[in-house]
Amino acid sequence: MKNYLLALDQGTTSSRAILFTTGGEVVSTAQYPFTQHYPQPGWVEHDPMEILNTQLKAAADCVAQSGVDVKDIAAVGLANQRETAVVWERKTGKPVSNAIVWQCRRTADFCSWLQVAGHTDTIRAKTGLVADAYFSGTKYRWILQNVPGVREKALRGELLCGTVDSWLLWNLTGGKVHASDYSNCCRTMLFDIHKLAWDEDLCRLMEVPMDWLPQPVENSGDLGVIANGVPYLEALAGLPIRGAAGDQQAALFGQGCFKPGQLKNTYGTGCFTLLNTGKAVTSRNGLLTCVGWGLKGETTYVLEGSVFNAGSSIQWLRDELGIIKSAPEINGLAESVPDNGGVYLVSAFTGLGSPHWDMFARGTIIGITRGTTKAHICRATLEGIAYQTADLIRAMEKDAGQPISGLRVDGGASVSDFMMQYQADLLGVPVERPQVVETTAWGAACLAGLGAGLWDSPEALLKDQKPGKLYLPQNDRTKEYAKWQKALERAKAWEEL
Ligand code: ADP
Repeated sequence: MKNYLLALDQGTTSSRAILFTTGGEVVSTAQYPFTQHYPQPGWVEHDPMEILNTQLKAAADCVAQSGVDVKDIAAVGLANQRETAVVWERKTGKPVSNAIVWQCRRTADFCSWLQVAGHTDTIRAKTGLVADAYFSGTKYRWILQNVPGVREKALRGELLCGTVDSWLLWNLTGGKVHASDYSNCCRTMLFDIHKLAWDEDLCRLMEVPMDWLPQPVENSGDLGVIANGVPYLEALAGLPIRGAAGDQQAALFGQGCFKPGQLKNTYGTGCFTLLNTGKAVTSRNGLLTCVGWGLKGETTYVLEGSVFNAGSSIQWLRDELGIIKSAPEINGLAESVPDNGGVYLVSAFTGLGSPHWDMFARGTIIGITRGTTKAHICRATLEGIAYQTADLIRAMEKDAGQPISGLRVDGGASVSDFMMQYQADLLGVPVERPQVVETTAWGAACLAGLGAGLWDSPEALLKDQKPGKLYLPQNDRTKEYAKWQKALERAKAWEEL
């Protein structure tokens, strides 16, 4: 019986593989970290071969350890770090350079030029994005302009490019499939999210040769099979690849947010919030419009926003201030005081993201009195993450023109009961943390299962879903939230040019 699904979760710091039962239970996992290269301040690179090899090894080990017969695996699904750009040779599969990682700021100047030259509105209208170095398009341009020999090879039509989904797919299929799913395409600044096609004018503007680009495809369906001769994967040859999505969209899918109005927040180092809007909605609050997924000819759109510093503020308490020894310790301390004692912590270490968009804001702790203890600071830190998430969600509600009815959560810091309860109090809606915390990998597995015909529709998946832990609104936080807005104003526009 084909009772298993294999998810490959290619992240920013490690490559993981998880074998799930079709009911969503984790059977086995394997994970390999890989090297982060920082060649200059603000630059971040990965070796594409290391990404590939760690991912292949993780997949092989995961299946080998499980003891499951490969014949019982219905399909493979991919989830990946988004926006990271790879260019490789069509014939040999050799990358022409390191991958330029999503975090890399090397194309910031060109993006400023795009803004000054008046391209912002076109970019937003076609791609749903703001012109930023984050996205892949300008990274391909950088490789074309700066890596020796690339221009000549490009002229001879010898090169291909793609985000990590595309790089993995090409390698897994032995070079047969050069495709990229919509949820990854939409993060390049080259893709028209309404026409679901590469945009010639944007490719020209960003000087990306169109013959480099992968074929845009839906997130579920026939994406090829694992070829013979793929290193480490001899035993998996012939397995069909049936689903793929960028990590955040995969998590939204894995959380079962299939209906407009449903949303999830991932509490990691930063927060990533995605709201299913059904149709494409243009933001007036600096949020991004992206493709959630394309399934059976139907496209679901999302609004996306992020809090730059969330879990990182907990790490700061641990690593820089030393007032906690480990992240979990923050919860006991926060709960040891009846309230925040008037203390507010705005973790604007690197400025503020949506909806505030203030790159000159800086971190602030305000309201300190002689009676303030480290417990108050711990509590203010967790509350601060919840306030920033609430600000973001309020902006999403305005853009979408409808209030949310609940929030699903995941990520390392979502285990904090205190913070989840506070979040429910602030938003006035239930917050739910699922039993399967591996939402990203599970989302990829679900897309693969749909593509393999295990379920007819996403909704059919929900019937097996076990309820998660629910936090219902209990306390009125109106006063505290108003005070937070005041603290936020003090943090804004702090640095000067
Ligand atoms: P990322 O994928 O961004 O690396 P994770 O989803 O692994 O992040 O989450 C890591 C974050 O979760 C860290 O910033 C850490 O401080 C926080 N964290 C881990 N355990 C706890 C806990 N028990 N309570 C609160 N925060 C936690």
